Amino acid sequence: MDTSCFNQFSPLAAIATHSQAARVLRPLSQDTDIQLWLPVSVEKQGNSKYYDNSLKEHLASIWAEHRAFIFCLATGAVVRLIAPLMQNKAEDPAIVVIDAQGDYVISLCSGHQGKADLLAQLIASQIGATAIITGASHSLSLPAVDTLGFTYGWRKGGGDWTGVMATVARQENVQVIQEAGSSLWQEHLPEKHSFYFGFPESQVEITPQARIWISPTKRKFAPQSDFPKVQWHPKVLWVGIGCERGTSRKLMEKAIDETCKTYHLATEAIAGIASISIKANETGLLEVCRRRNLAFKTFSASQLSQVDVPTPSEVVQQEVGTPSVAEAAAILAGGTLLVPKQIFKSETQSGAVTVAIAQAKVEYIGRTGRLYLIGIGPGNLGQITPAAQTAIIEADVVIGYSLYTNLIQSLKRSGQIIESSPITQEQQRAQRAITLAQWGLTVAVVSSGDCGIYGMAGLVLEELQATGWNGKNPRVQIFPGISALQSAASRVGAPLMHDFCAISLSDLLTPWSVILKRLTAAASGDFITALYNPRSQKRTQQIVTAQEILSQHRQPDTPVAIVHGAYREDEQVILTTLEKMLDHPIDMLTTVIIGNTTTRNYANWMITPRGYFERVKDESTI
Ligand code: SAH
Repeated sequence: MDTSCFNQFSPLAAIATHSQAARVLRPLSQDTDIQLWLPVSVEKQGNSKYYDNSLKEHLASIWAEHRAFIFCLATGAVVRLIAPLMQNKAEDPAIVVIDAQGDYVISLCSGHQGKADLLAQLIASQIGATAIITGASHSLSLPAVDTLGFTYGWRKGGGDWTGVMATVARQENVQVIQEAGSSLWQEHLPEKHSFYFGFPESQVEITPQARIWISPTKRKFAPQSDFPKVQWHPKVLWVGIGCERGTSRKLMEKAIDETCKTYHLATEAIAGIASISIKANETGLLEVCRRRNLAFKTFSASQLSQVDVPTPSEVVQQEVGTPSVAEAAAILAGGTLLVPKQIFKSETQSGAVTVAIAQAKVEYIGRTGRLYLIGIGPGNLGQITPAAQTAIIEADVVIGYSLYTNLIQSLKRSGQIIESSPITQEQQRAQRAITLAQWGLTVAVVSSGDCGIYGMAGLVLEELQATGWNGKNPRVQIFPGISALQSAASRVGAPLMHDFCAISLSDLLTPWSVILKRLTAAASGDFITALYNPRSQKRTQQIVTAQEILSQHRQPDTPVAIVHGAYREDEQVILTTLEKMLDHPIDMLTTVIIGNTTTRNYANWMITPRGYFERVKDESTI
């Protein structure tokens, strides 16, 4: 079962106080992740629930357990209702307000950390409204400093977040010193921004007004600092742990915290704990991981014994069959050893722990990635489904051929990564999308038309299969789009009213002999035939042969539609005949629809009879 884009906000309550507001919220309340609340005076709909006391009291009773609220109510009323309940921006739920006509969706509170900005954009795309977002980073098309790293699983460290964000809003110089973690966000900043990267020595002419540190190192900021600073900690540290059976969780936590402190490392930068397989059920270790939300990896003694470590131990070798647990496990999980083995014993508690820390090149996100395979329709935003639009808005990264990513440019969210590539690089695009999704990102791969018709969906699934994919991780969701044959048909009438087929004339990936066989079968089977990829600069002969083959089975005056760039700015629609079709321009952005033996032209419309009129005639002769 697919989860909806609202799942990340669940539990999510939508509140209407009268029937017009309930009507506006109805399309949203069909989503199982949204609970609609109505007063008893309004007719119940779907899975809606009634609140029977005052809205103020009701809100207070459900406030704490909800991540987000959608109000279809006057903004002023919402402000008064929520004011007594708001705490601070790290804890408050996302608050979104929709006007009673459903024209505007306002991100009111917790725009960044509570993701109300994203929620407003998702709702707006689903109900065809305009999102109103008033945050500074949004208006500058910049990623928000206080949520920047959440995409990559980074944890926030200390600092003056409000101060740094105000500096960004004033468009003053913000120095970024990034020592770890993905630099994708840097590579996709808009042309105009006030971040600069690196140390002051190399950029003496620029005076920083604020600083962002992105590293596993914990820095102490003096309270009287001259400008605001913050730190993000990408989860790159892997703590290797060896311990005596039954060592307490407290001693383990003490060992981890003290080691980090001694080496100036942030505990927030810890991705997980690594140990030996026989510790897979060690209670203390499991508790540390659960309490601190850390990953847990184990390796067999034979895997560990192959790792070169600075502090091997003969005693450990004799006990568990490898000369190192902590160092070797840290290296296997992380890569480069930062902190060699430290030993901790407690005077008061039983057990002993050894700790070593390694740093990974790539941060651990710790989420199941998603791949959204999306058909965007022929090219005009009006022809894309709301579900596809919403998925594009939700994605961390959008990948596609540059022509298509340009077509959906207006959907781009600030801070979203758009990776465009030239037309021929389908396989690279598919592999890139899979790599990012395996890492933990939500990746949208866009195709024109339908993604499963000569689009990217099949290729991505094939590539996934080649990696030994288990069908679940990354999660795949496919969003259909209007294919070229449908959009081309809609421009000329109803040519596809009877059995039809699509044939691509591109012999790049399909042998020409196979295409010939299918053309012949389509012609003799009297299928209405839609030709994709009909002619390129190099491939000019195929369309000529296709016309010859179809002419063997159909009359010269069989209607033919030639549609170039359907629903795009350069759209061109020609209605002609099989005999004359080659007299008209046909290129790679064209779809050619050849009628069957009953297709006719009437008043410049192409009609293929479904058979109703013939049936009436037959019945009347009985
Ligand atoms: N997945 C796409 C097809 C991609 S193959 C779909 O379902 O529509 C590319 C071919 O699609 C082009 O060579 C052209 O034949 C056709 N095509 C794509 N967009 C089109 C448009 N807007 N108008 C006419 N033909 C189009």
